Amino acid sequence: MVRAYEEWFAGYAQDPGAILRRTFGETGGYDELVLLRDIPLESVCEHHMAAISGVAHIAYLPRERVVGISKLARLVDALAHRLQIQERLTAEIADAIEAELEPRGVAVVLQASHACMSSRGVRKHGSALVTRAFRGLYTAPGARREVLEALDH
Ligand SMILES: [Zn+2]
Repeated sequence: MVRAYEEWFAGYAQDPGAILRRTFGETGGYDELVLLRDIPLESVCEHHMAAISGVAHIAYLPRERVVGISKLARLVDALAHRLQIQERLTAEIADAIEAELEPRGVAVVLQASHACMSSRGVRKHGSALVTRAFRGLYTAPGARREVLEALDH
């Protein structure tokens, strides 16, 4: 049990900013959307200490520098392996990317089911909570619509 909890809460020992610190400038002038879809997401809700599981989609519009894509998945893990609420987790992922990469825009969408709702209480199986965070250019309605379409396909 202790080992399981150490793994579920390993994120407290990780610095999300440090994960993104190594960036690459050799992009050959690439300045379009970078999008990583369906990143597995496992977290624990801070209200019930019950499992949250789903997927994360991350998109950003780089400003000269990009980060290795595995780092985006590691960022999700570092922030998810803590006691969380999905709304804050969504915002923290977006904020970490904005702070470290200084991209032109960031969009984060999380889609997850909560064991505290599916296995007790109202016992609603199969429902998913969707949360979204936008930073920079994607706070504008037109650009937001565009990135959400890209995240959907
Ligand atoms: Zn809960």
